Amino acid sequence: MKVDCVIVGFGLAGMAFAKELEDNNKTFIVFEDTSQTSSNVAGGVYNPIILKRFTPVWQAKDQLDMALPFYREIEEKLNGIYDYTFPTHRIFKSIEEQNNWFSAADRSILSDYMDTNIVRTKYNGVLSPEGMGRVKGTGRIDTKKLLDDYKIYLENRNQMEYSTFDYDAMTTNEVNVIYKSIETSNVVFCEGYGMLKNPYFRDLPMNEVKGELITIHAPDLEVDFLIKSSVFVIPLGNYYFKVGATFNWKDKTLLTTDAGKLELLNKLDSFISVPYTVVKQSAGIRPTVKDRRPLVGLHSDDCRLSILNGLGTRGVMIAPKVAKELFAHIYNGSPLDPESDISRFLKD
Ligand SMILES: Cc1cc2nc3c(=O)[nH]c(=O)nc-3n(C[C@H](O)[C@H](O)[C@H](O)COP(=O)(O)OP(=O)(O)OC[C@H]3O[C@@H](n4cnc5c(N)ncnc54)[C@H](O)[C@@H]3O)c2cc1C
Repeated sequence: MKVDCVIVGFGLAGMAFAKELEDNNKTFIVFEDTSQTSSNVAGGVYNPIILKRFTPVWQAKDQLDMALPFYREIEEKLNGIYDYTFPTHRIFKSIEEQNNWFSAADRSILSDYMDTNIVRTKYNGVLSPEGMGRVKGTGRIDTKKLLDDYKIYLENRNQMEYSTFDYDAMTTNEVNVIYKSIETSNVVFCEGYGMLKNPYFRDLPMNEVKGELITIHAPDLEVDFLIKSSVFVIPLGNYYFKVGATFNWKDKTLLTTDAGKLELLNKLDSFISVPYTVVKQSAGIRPTVKDRRPLVGLHSDDCRLSILNGLGTRGVMIAPKVAKELFAHIYNGSPLDPESDISRFLKD
């Protein structure tokens, strides 16, 4: 079999690159072994503001300008709904935080998103004595449903192979890369934390961080917006909410833990006062990089091997943009964004 490209890994990165290939009439096959869960468990939130400090997310506007049409196109292609828009309400802890909110909202880069009318409405079960700041232009991508549907779409086209990519079975000749019975001109590795097993890219400085989430059912919590306090409470509909997430730099397993659950419950109880039941808990490892920028680019010794990784805590917003940039680099020779290009880690 001859294809233009092989993709290894079908999380948000692999999916975004697959769409880019398909949009440009390139043939490809995907290898996916379900060894990582980050994209499947993610909260799926997109939000242009870092709500701890009220500063803009790196390249937020450019990323959103690309991401929102990107997900709309997938909704049309797969005939599904994945993008749920709602505002985010940031609970203020003090008057000082309110003042910081107003100062930040004055900045032209943030003013489109930050509402300067403080939310004073009392919502049943939400403890917010100092009010809340409202962020516009936020929402959630149902990443699990999107990826599940996209996989079925590719299965029906014989473009999805459920197996672990075996690096030892890959060889190269002067023209192509050979993997078992497949001949291709490019292999794009999108393995998330799985990158650490990849002999071609494992030396890149990933600083992965495990995250856990719980899903709760709270029949008296009448909110249709995302609440941000010490954790996110993300509305899923029918009084179900995702609550998260933890950050753990030591534990590298995908197992859910009692400690993770307890941490989330303690934080949740500090600002939610209605009864709820926990219906689910999940965990994944975010492929975060030392300098908090993506890992995009070609292998320094073999330009047929490339990487799309390091999406960190914000894969939903970043994936569409970096996939487009890597595609343009491989097939049109366009330069990569130096902040994402893995050559920033090459030693002189
Ligand atoms: C708890 C939690 C909450 C999060 N919340 C948000 C959020 O609200 N908003 C947001 O934008 N981001 C969020 N993130 C971050 C987001 O999930 C990541 O940025 C994103 O999922 C990374 O996507 P990826 O495709 O690079 O990696 P992954 O999702 O890890 O995908 C890599 C894929 O490669 C496969 N794979 C690996 N090695 C191989 C191999 N050798 N052969 C075959 N297949 C292989 C894996 O099975 C996996 O499917 C969250 C993450 C976590 C853990």
